[in-house]
Amino acid sequence: MAVPKRKTTPSRRGMRRSHDALRVEAYQECSNCGELKRPHNLCVACGHYNGREVVAAGA
Ligand SMILES: [Zn+2]
Repeated sequence: MAVPKRKTTPSRRGMRRSHDALRVEAYQECSNCGELKRPHNLCVACGHYNGREVVAAGA
């Protein structure tokens, strides 16, 4: 079995993990009902997108 020749130093381990952080999901207020929604997605609460009702509310 292949085995690492040297122990990973705390510095190397930190460099590898520098890309591991989770990012906060983006949210915007719905212009129709004020509920938080994902940008570029229709509002789950009222079914509106870009100022008009796309899906009936609650559907
Ligand atoms: Zn809404």
